[in-house]
Amino acid sequence: MKIHNFNAGPSILPQEVVRKSAQSVIDFNGTGLSLLEISHRSIDFLEIIEKTTCLVKKVMNLNDDYAILFLQGGATLQFSMVPYNLMDQEAAYLDTGFWAKNAIKEAKRFGKVKILFSGKDQNYTHISKNYQIPYHVDYFHCTSNNTIVGTQMKTFPQTSVPIVCDMSSDIFSRKLNFLQFSLIYASAQKNVSSAGMTIVIVRKNVLGKIEKNIPSYMDYKIHIQNKSILNTPNVFSIYTSMLTLEWIEKKGGLSILEIENKYKAKLLYDEIDQNNLFENKIHKEDRSNMNVSFFLKDKKLEKEFNKMWRKENIVGLDGHRFLGGYRASIYNALPLKSVQFLIEIMKEFEIKFSS
Ligand code: PMP
Repeated sequence: MKIHNFNAGPSILPQEVVRKSAQSVIDFNGTGLSLLEISHRSIDFLEIIEKTTCLVKKVMNLNDDYAILFLQGGATLQFSMVPYNLMDQEAAYLDTGFWAKNAIKEAKRFGKVKILFSGKDQNYTHISKNYQIPYHVDYFHCTSNNTIVGTQMKTFPQTSVPIVCDMSSDIFSRKLNFLQFSLIYASAQKNVSSAGMTIVIVRKNVLGKIEKNIPSYMDYKIHIQNKSILNTPNVFSIYTSMLTLEWIEKKGGLSILEIENKYKAKLLYDEIDQNNLFENKIHKEDRSNMNVSFFLKDKKLEKEFNKMWRKENIVGLDGHRFLGGYRASIYNALPLKSVQFLIEIMKEFEIKFSS
């Protein structure tokens, strides 16, 4: 049965990745053992971690100034780990939504936080480009894609201050100059792999600049020394991310994915804009190419619309519990056909219920 999976996360993965990782659980590379039964210090697993590291660097065009880490604790742990390692006195943050707000909350435990912009008054439907990053702050933190409301930063500021970016919901979805970032983190449950692992990409020379007695698990330098196996890592999720990166490479890399993602998003936004029954509230230039939020203009039609898409094997279209409405998450692995199918349903709904 064909299911159109618009879940926001954990979300759709390439079918080939799901198949191969399932096979590895039964019999890993013909060893007669499950991937879940091998030591994280075995040659087999060390090869997986090495290959995944190389693939991240290759796909993102990173050089050896960067270390790649596969950690646990989700992006949520990074909200504290970043200031623990990088904040001496003060850092600057953009408040662009729920996850950014959580990052700010944790950072405040470590020092002063300067909010350069808050989208709160406009229900986070817009991301300012007119802010100044003070030269004296230890780092500037932003969230490239705001998963809940559906906004995305299309450009990043030019600054000599280290840029830290939460890319949890749009990593590997587009080509960027990743060398402009000092630290990128992304929890793996959308474009990367199964949940339970967070990729951290850090420029090594931003570390070790402040005097702090950092607990071992919170210290990036210790993870770099231990090549992500300070303790037992999430073996399955790291393996699945290796498979996903192989899939990305086979597809032609980030430039191809960016073209596909922009096309899928454009089709859906065009339909929302022209359909009499739906609306999207995000400023056009800030619309996310990963999470497309939309609402029925007449809330009374919700029951009918829900009945219609649910009957057609569409899943995960409900908006976030804080926001209501609808959200179509159209990550890398979501086929164009699923977007086209949703558009058909929306058109049909318009014909049936437009007065
Ligand atoms: N940041 C963003 C942008 C997210 O979308 C999410 C989760 N959806 C998080 C942080 C939190 O990630 P985790 O649950 O892995 O801690």
